[in-house]
Amino acid sequence: MNCTVCGNLLLANRTVFRCSCGVITHAQCWEKHIVESHEPSFTTGVVTVDGRFIPKSAETEEVSHPSEKELVAIERK
Ligand SMILES: [Zn+2]
Ligand SMILES: [Zn+2]
Repeated sequence: MNCTVCGNLLLANRTVFRCSCGVITHAQCWEKHIVESHEPSFTTGVVTVDGRFIPKSAETEEVSHPSEKELVAIERK
C-alpha cells in the first residue's frame, strides 16, 4: 500500500496515520494531507509579547478571499 500524499510505499509495521476521510499516509505526510485535502479553517493574526493572540480583523479576511478567487478566474481564461 502506498501513501496517499507522497506516493511512496507504506512500510509494514510502521506507524501510519489513517485520516477520518479514510486515506492512509505516513505519519509525517498526514499534516500535508490535512492542509491540501481538507483545507482546515484558521485565523491569521499576531502574537503579542505577553503571549496573547490578536486575530486580524474579519473585515480584512472577507475582502481578501473574493479577490483571490477573482485572480484564479482571470488566470484560467
Ligand atoms: Zn508519505
Ligand atoms: Zn483526510
